[in-house]
Amino acid sequence: MSDVRIKKYQPGQLIFSQGNEADCAYIVESGEVEILVMHNSEEQIISTLSSGELFGEMGVMDNSPRTTSARAKTEVTLLRIHRQQITERMLSADPIIKSLVETLLSRSRSMLPDVSNDLVLSNPVDSSAVTNVAMNKFRLESELREAIADGDIQTFFQPLMDLDKRRIVGCEALSRWNHPVRGMISPSEFIELAEETDLIIDVGLLVFDRAFQLLKQLKTDTFVSINVSGRQLDNDLFFENILGLMDQYSINPKQIKLELTETLVIDTRQAIDWIKKCRDYGFSICADDFGTGYSGLLQLTQLDFDILKIDQSFVNRMEENIKVREVLQGMVSMAKNLRMLLVAEGIETQAQLDYLRSLGVNYGQGFWIGKPMDVEKFIGYIG
Ligand code: C2E
Ligand code: CA
Ligand code: CA
Repeated sequence: MSDVRIKKYQPGQLIFSQGNEADCAYIVESGEVEILVMHNSEEQIISTLSSGELFGEMGVMDNSPRTTSARAKTEVTLLRIHRQQITERMLSADPIIKSLVETLLSRSRSMLPDVSNDLVLSNPVDSSAVTNVAMNKFRLESELREAIADGDIQTFFQPLMDLDKRRIVGCEALSRWNHPVRGMISPSEFIELAEETDLIIDVGLLVFDRAFQLLKQLKTDTFVSINVSGRQLDNDLFFENILGLMDQYSINPKQIKLELTETLVIDTRQAIDWIKKCRDYGFSICADDFGTGYSGLLQLTQLDFDILKIDQSFVNRMEENIKVREVLQGMVSMAKNLRMLLVAEGIETQAQLDYLRSLGVNYGQGFWIGKPMDVEKFIGYIG
């Protein structure tokens, strides 16, 4: 088989035949191609394709023999699309997309006239596994949509302590799904799904609304820290809605901190724009899960964060690992020099809290101080 990607065919020349192995797809660069099937021993032309059209992709996508033949009608120039180009895309595709493609493929095959029975599809891909994942995802997404509408997405608040003053000064808002059958579902199970769709916009609006309701009942120097994702930050309507809500509840933007996870920052230019936008609205910005991303320290000099939130994995390991303690000390002096505040999360013991306080970390959060709790409990807790 030639590796040349551009191929020329003369009028009447076969490009592939029904039953052939599907090793590539083609784009018609010039001329016309006929797609045909044998029907009662007679050929039947089912379509004629011209410049810019793709064909021969079906068998490549699910590794089945050609279910039609293709023939040059005029002199044609074709661009070969290698199997790997297509299979790589299929492998990296969302399972829902894969499943939709497979459904479409089998439906279009079933519409071909009388395709000979010996062309039984020998699909080596375990499509039932893909379909199961896809259908579960679809199901969960529909349920999530309903849960948002029914008010089953709740907002919990986890206290944040000023370590120096030993006082609770704010909290982080964390979403919970109160599922009628499965009980409380953690955000790790549904936030990612919501982030793949615009559902994260609705979840976000709920969280902001609840956070503002809480702030109305607290002293004006208390703050709520809210997790935001890229899809929200890119959506101007989302910000407009939040500003509307802020107006409605008369909330000072100083009482809101937005947490942006470090792993989200892949494109520095984009992150600079996001941070500028949040700044313009008056919110402070916190780099969440700090120290776990691959963004590097150079980025820290370009991104104007107000707060760095040290990831829990440092706090978990600091007691048994001196290097972790040294990195933590480095973070404290770096944050001071950059005039950023530090939050440590995942504090589970008094010893961890004392050590972080002695280092000069500004705020602490963790089960030792208080677990995430519903709004009534939080109001009682903060007193
Ligand atoms: P995160 O922003 O890093 O939130 C901190 C997570 O650590 C929370 O998990 C919290 O319950 C947990 N945590 C707090 N203190 C401790 C501790 O002492 N020990 C241990 N082991 N864990 C502690 P949660 O609530 O399950 O949230 C998971 C992640 O889901 C969050 O991580 C955040 O990235 C995301 N998330 C939660 N709610 C929202 C939301 O409304 N919007 C967005 N975009 N993301 C959210
Ligand atoms: Ca967070
Ligand atoms: Ca975090």
